[in-house]
Amino acid sequence: MKENRCAACGLIKLNRELMKFVSLPTGEFALDFKQTMPLKGVYVCAEKKCIKEAADKRLFNKAFGFDVDTGASDAVLKHVEDVYERYVYSLLRNGRGGGKVVSSAMLKDVNVISRAKYSLISGDVGDDNKSKILHLCGKYNIEYCFFKTKNDYYKNVEGKYRAAYFVLENSLAGKIKNTVDTLRQINNGSA
Ligand SMILES: [Zn+2]
Repeated sequence: MKENRCAACGLIKLNRELMKFVSLPTGEFALDFKQTMPLKGVYVCAEKKCIKEAADKRLFNKAFGFDVDTGASDAVLKHVEDVYERYVYSLLRNGRGGGKVVSSAMLKDVNVISRAKYSLISGDVGDDNKSKILHLCGKYNIEYCFFKTKNDYYKNVEGKYRAAYFVLENSLAGKIKNTVDTLRQINNGSA
């Protein structure tokens, strides 16, 4: 398995524990989320501390060996967050199309909900819906997280306001959970 050194803290880690940043041919600085772009990458821990340090101290440029306009560290963090969120939404959309993700509209269908492996509950869900959803999660042993708002789901997953999504398939649930967890880890890291 491939390893690289974090440009900020200097620790060597597996690539999957690091984020790879590239300078696109257009000159734009971007996260190579899947680490598949055939471009020289600069690796940084998936932590706010290392991302901020790399941007603030111009360590990205040093590691690239050429000058790249990375923007302020807050902009880099925002970009990373956007990329991770877009990935979660794309997994939810594709899962919905493939029948592996259902929305809270299916709450009453026990045959469906009892198969759920993971739930994303919108952060602004009303108290009534929230207690219903949390009750089901407890009853069927469904792991859950609070992720974004009903309006975010409306805009990015489907054109209806939804309180929550339930992921029915194990591998998809694992992918979504990992992505959300990494996003949390990046955001919670000390500034
Ligand atoms: Zn680091």
